Amino acid sequence: MNWDRVREKLEILADAAKYDVSCSSSGSKRSNKTKGIGNTTASGICHTYTEDGRCVSLLKILLTNYCIYDCLYCVSRRSNDIKRAAFTVQEVVDLTIHFYRRNYIEGLFLSSGIFKNADFTMERLVRVARKLRTEHNFNGYIHIKTIPGCTDDLMRDAAQYADRVSVNIEMPTESSLRKFAPEKNHNDIVRPMGFLSEQISAVSNERKLSPALPAFAPAGQSTQMVVGASPENDFDIMRVADSLYRKFSLKRVYYSGYVPISRDNRLPQIGTPVPLIRENRLYQADWLMRFYHFSIDEIIDPSRPNLDLDIDPKLAWALRNPHAFPIDVNTAAYEQILRVPGVGVSSALKIVKARKFRRLGWDELKRFGISFNKAKHFIVCDRMDTFPRDVDPIVLRHTLAGQSKYAINDVQQLPLFA
Ligand code: SF4
Repeated sequence: MNWDRVREKLEILADAAKYDVSCSSSGSKRSNKTKGIGNTTASGICHTYTEDGRCVSLLKILLTNYCIYDCLYCVSRRSNDIKRAAFTVQEVVDLTIHFYRRNYIEGLFLSSGIFKNADFTMERLVRVARKLRTEHNFNGYIHIKTIPGCTDDLMRDAAQYADRVSVNIEMPTESSLRKFAPEKNHNDIVRPMGFLSEQISAVSNERKLSPALPAFAPAGQSTQMVVGASPENDFDIMRVADSLYRKFSLKRVYYSGYVPISRDNRLPQIGTPVPLIRENRLYQADWLMRFYHFSIDEIIDPSRPNLDLDIDPKLAWALRNPHAFPIDVNTAAYEQILRVPGVGVSSALKIVKARKFRRLGWDELKRFGISFNKAKHFIVCDRMDTFPRDVDPIVLRHTLAGQSKYAINDVQQLPLFA
């Protein structure tokens, strides 16, 4: 293998893959120059998290950034004048194995532009995964971004070799997809999600009876939505995410803030990158739905269609519902404790476990990792009389927005002469 050429391709195809947010980039540039152990190279290594919270490093690349489509929001689109490259199947396999053996990565995240057609490209992605599993006995994590419009057989093959498969929904609505990715078909995206969801659930049921059956996308399926390229508000976006979770049992919906890379004036946000805080608030709202037992209507509705950028959505809900507080952590149900701003899932579990043995006061809560400065306004516990508590939601909002590490003034540029 010509490693110089492969390195050149790696630089191009890892850079093109960075717009995919299904796993985040490490951002580290430390390299192994002293023949020591480990290496965080600049190209292609990123991190993702397993369900049990473990962080794994992945080789994150495109098979190719050639593409026959011209999606306006995408750096790899046909009309964009950029350096192009394509790996062969064998090159991706060899890179993965070499990086794995050197302990640089624990898995592979493989996506691709579409060359020729969906099946032609997808067949190559599947071939990479199949070779890794069957010829190299590779047991690391594999995530394959599937190509919309490919056959069910190829989709099934991908799920047999990969841990996670995903189909990008791309745009929050069908009309925006038509406008910004006119060659893509909404049905080609949604139908495979349904197919995968049925197959994943069927195989998982069969494996309960026959555990020796081969796994089928054991880490489930996910998707990604571009936020801010099209005019949909947060309510539209969350409603789509909610329906995808319900219909297809997705493991994750990723929200990718649009990066203005196109001068096409069909894109409304030209020159204005989506503030990171908006992406962040969408993820927080997403977590409230998945882990905190909130319904979408409690978080957002058409009368206030965008998430508050000043404060997180859980705090915003608490301030809109002062009648639900204060909550006595020594007696309240687990679900009520989960709704207290500043209390996470693991802290809520610790509270419920510990109070079986003794009444809880501030000292214990502090040890459980709750954010007391926030939580103290919404809870009652033993020995907390000395803490001042704001009860007026407007005052409280002002106080807590000022304390937020994501306070809006931190992320918005102020006018020069304000
Ligand atoms: S099909 Fe995928 S790679 Fe090609 S232009 Fe559209 S988003 Fe980009």
